[in-house]
Order: sequence, then structure tokens, then C-alpha cells
Amino acid sequence: MLGIDERLAAIRGSSDRKRHNARTLAALTTNPGCARRAILDAAGVHKDKIAARVGHPTEIGKMSKIAVLRGTFFEQQVKAEGGAEMLRLLRAELGLPIEQAHYEDLGAAEVDATDPRSKREQSNESRYQLTRQAMRMTAGSGPDAGTMFASPMLRIAFGGVWVYLEPDLVAFQIGDKFHIVEIKSFPIIDEVADPGKVAGALRQAAVYVIALQNLMEELGRGRDLVSPEVLLVCPKDFTNQPTAAVRNVRKELAVIRRQLERMDQVREILRAVPQEVTFDLAADRQGRPTRSPADLKRALNQIPARYSPDCLSNCEMGRFCRSEARGSTNVLGRTIREDLGGVDSTSMAVALATGRLRPTDDLEETAHLLRTIYTMRADCLQGAS
Ligand code: SF4
Repeated sequence: MLGIDERLAAIRGSSDRKRHNARTLAALTTNPGCARRAILDAAGVHKDKIAARVGHPTEIGKMSKIAVLRGTFFEQQVKAEGGAEMLRLLRAELGLPIEQAHYEDLGAAEVDATDPRSKREQSNESRYQLTRQAMRMTAGSGPDAGTMFASPMLRIAFGGVWVYLEPDLVAFQIGDKFHIVEIKSFPIIDEVADPGKVAGALRQAAVYVIALQNLMEELGRGRDLVSPEVLLVCPKDFTNQPTAAVRNVRKELAVIRRQLERMDQVREILRAVPQEVTFDLAADRQGRPTRSPADLKRALNQIPARYSPDCLSNCEMGRFCRSEARGSTNVLGRTIREDLGGVDSTSMAVALATGRLRPTDDLEETAHLLRTIYTMRADCLQGAS
């Protein structure tokens, strides 16, 4: 019997381990009950490559060049001149009471050519140590520190490895607390922003809050030194002028913590997965996968999934799982699935709605509801025509 690390490595196969980031960790919370996702993520499988191989390529995580450039430009603008614009926003939104603030960029890393580790590994570790040192010094320097740290490096243990995370900025001060600042390039128009984008940004910020709280605990300073209130900085209306909103991510913190703990228990989920299951793409010398799509689909089918429409924007396997779930009431979303409790397929729902299927006693109420909706729909269509 293989140990858990060997088992996850066998599931991943010959590919390198996928590097997670705050976005992918935050996305874990959108479908916490899905065993397929839990296993693929814990093993560090490149879900985008698997999805492409089984004929359902994904756009998740891909941004147009223009969107990337716009994001980078906006972030640079907010951080320019030692964070002058940021300081203005911190004063306005968090009541930073001081005139000047110290601004420190933690983005520079030391890399040693003789070190056998990759440049990325060295850079991550060096920036993390720099951040750790800066946080240790600042955490003890009292309520007037007024320090902003740009491009810090934090980390979270996930699936047995460190996942390095790069918040845009950590601001210190304001009632002795550290605050995470998340800079996003989607606009806030008339004080309203796209709710889906805001939710994603807040989940991401919550991952950073957890990582910083872990670091504080490691430094013996206590988690409550990190505020659950984060600052979301976005362009205002249709301009490049930054504006900020304070949001409390307490709810997101609880969900993400629960999901990270669940991933620690991946051993339990693995028990139900046959030993021979692997997502090895068996790449040839040119890196092209040789594993047949049919074989890969068989492997996927051996781990139960829990598709819901949210998956399409949060998991690289979304299109595959939707096609697999076609015909089941799962494709209609959790609310409808729960309303239709006991009706597993859309064909059964249609048969009950049209009276072609006699309901059993326990489905009488659901069938009545479906018949009513069906009649209303027919009346509407008739009225329209
Ligand atoms: S897309 Fe599939 S694997 Fe991903 S969370 Fe949804 S059901 Fe699970």
C-alpha cells in the first residue's frame, strides 16, 4: 500500500506539480464537496491539460494581453512614488492618522547561481524570508509604525507543499493591525462593481489574510494582529483614478480555513479511489500527451464529481463535468437540485411535469409543483403567440 505522498504522486504521474496560487486556493471554496476536484488539486494535477485532452479546453486563468497590461499599469500607478496614492486611500478609507508612511518594496530576491534549487524556488524562499523579517520588526514597533509593504511573499501549506502567495500590498498601522490590500483592475462604477469579480477578489484577499495570520502565529505575535478587514482598490468609474472600499472577509476566512483543513484529510477521500487511477498524460519527447482521451475519461469517471453551474467559472474541469452531468438535475444548480429532491434526471422531471410519469407518494408534492410550472409556461407561450 502506497503512502499518501506516493499515492498523490502516482495520480499526478510524470507531469510537474501544478503550482497553486491565491486564486486557485480561493476557488477551492466554490465546490467544497467535490471529491474529484479535491483529489486533482491535492495531487497538483494540471487540470487545464486534462480538460483539453478530454476535449473540453478551458479559458479559466487565461487573460488577454490587454487585460494583463491594464492590470499591471493600474497596480504600478497605485504603488508609484512610494505609495503616495495608496497613502491617500489609506487615510481616506482606514483613517490612517499620520502624514507620512514608510514604503518598503519586498519584491527583490537574492538568487545564487550555484544553488541547485530553481531560480523561482530561491526567489520565493528569499522573498518569504525578507517578508518574515520585515513583519517581525514591524509587528513589535508600536501603533505609529505606518508602514506599507509592497509585493511581500507569504506561504500556506497545501497538499504537502508550500504554496507561495504574493499579495499586492500589506499595510500596517491603523489600530495596531495589519491590513491586506488587494488591487484589481475591474472598475467600481457609481460605487458598484461586478459582484462575481468582487466575490473572487475577496476570497483571494482572505487567502492572504490566512497566510499572514499563520506567519504572525509562527512569529509568536498572534493571529488577531491581522485584520479581517481588507482594502479593495479599483479604478473609479471609467477612469484610471483609484478608489478603495473596505470589506470584511470574516465569512470567507471561515470557509477557506474549513476547506484547507478538509484538504489535509485528503487521505479519507483517497480511500474511495481505486489504486490504479492516474492522470498521467504520458507525454512524448516533445511534451505531447500520448494517453488516449477515452482512457483519461475512464480515470475521471472513477472519482465522483459534484457538478454545479458555478464550476464553469471556478474549475478547469467545468466543461467536462457539465457534459458528464448532462441529463442530471445537477446541471441546474444546487437550489433547483434541492427543490427537486428525489428527481435525479431532467427527463424524469419533464415526465412528471407533463403527466407521463405517475409520481410515487414521496414525489407527489414535487410532481405537483412541476405540473404547475409546466402549465404556467404553456399558458405564457400561448399568450405570447
Ligand atoms: S468542475 Fe468537476 S471537478 Fe471541478 S469542482 Fe466542478 S464537479 Fe468538481
